[in-house]
Amino acid sequence: MRKFRVGILGATGVVGQRFIQLLENHPQFEVAALAASDRSQGKTYADACTWRLPGDMPDRLKQIVVQPPAPPLDCDFVFSSLPGEIAKETEEDFARAGYPVISNSSPHRMGVDVPLLIPEVNPEHVALVDVQRKNRGYDRGFIVTNPNCSAIVIVMALAPLHAKFGLTSCVVTTMQALSGAGYPGVASLDATDNVIPFIGGEEEKIEAETLKLLGRINGDGVIEEARMTVSAQCNRVNVTDGHLASMRVKLARPASMDEIREALASFTSEPQQLNLYSSPAQPIIVRDDADRPQPRLDRDAANGMSVTVGRITKDNVLDYRFVALGHNTIRGAAGAAILNAELLAARGYLGK
Ligand code: NAP
Repeated sequence: MRKFRVGILGATGVVGQRFIQLLENHPQFEVAALAASDRSQGKTYADACTWRLPGDMPDRLKQIVVQPPAPPLDCDFVFSSLPGEIAKETEEDFARAGYPVISNSSPHRMGVDVPLLIPEVNPEHVALVDVQRKNRGYDRGFIVTNPNCSAIVIVMALAPLHAKFGLTSCVVTTMQALSGAGYPGVASLDATDNVIPFIGGEEEKIEAETLKLLGRINGDGVIEEARMTVSAQCNRVNVTDGHLASMRVKLARPASMDEIREALASFTSEPQQLNLYSSPAQPIIVRDDADRPQPRLDRDAANGMSVTVGRITKDNVLDYRFVALGHNTIRGAAGAAILNAELLAARGYLGK
């Protein structure tokens, strides 16, 4: 079967490089076009991009010339990891021009007709693509987004609990890696020997996106947000990769600690049933060791696609507390978008 030919918008950045790394040897998708800022346009990828991931830049891509992020691009669909301020119009231009856009960026996430998708959590929200095409008059194109890199980790851990026991509240404090700020990101003199208790817009994104992700799509194609309250505080910490979230939850129905543990550990969903290429066998790995999860030890679980949960304990204020960890540029960004594309391909939305 011919592979889908994909374009990457923002191909030289932290997330763009992850896309390229994860798409090397992908059975369904092959990288065909690369786009970035005017700093890079017209150069070969090898000249435009300083490769910052372990291993080498794939040879096959070194001589591809970086293009402007504007249609037409010679590909079947695009992954977008553009900065938010550029992404909004650019992604709309591609969708209007007939390209499916599978985006990491934030501007479209909360759009009423845009799927904000985690394939394990809300695969039924894919149906918003049909609403979007109808609303906007798009033919083959559409925009699908993945959540904020911390929201993905948090909601993966909340989803099985919400499904089994109902959630009424979640209070979360994140400790987020430096790579979440892109490259060069946080200045070393700010990051070293320090914790920065502010990441612009992040708390609002987690609080809003969680409700949409755990919401239900009704018969009119409208997302009814989850009826719960979420409070988030975000910190930038001196870790390269891996966002950690300390979480407290209040449940609608009582559950024992064993039931909580079992709900998390046994969680599987549509990607596992469909055996999607990037889906981890266990979306949530529960660890019972007293001092896990830790970013350095657990971020690469299942090639960075599993979320690790530990420290499950009864809480004196809400009902339970635990710690969740995920790889921010894999499960939180490029890997999330690729899994979204695999689900969309399986559902026939990427048809040639
Ligand atoms: P980054 O390392 O700063 O990379 C930005 C990319 O966008 C580069 O390829 C850059 O090209 C390109 N770009 C910048 N300005 C542009 C312009 N005016 N026109 C066209 N292209 C432009 O950032 P990143 O961390 O990869 O993040 C990219 C997006 O993903 C952001 O929206 C971010 O919020 C989102 N995201 C990031 C993470 C994460 O963990 N890092 C997680 C989830 C979502 P040049 O190299 O040519 O400048």
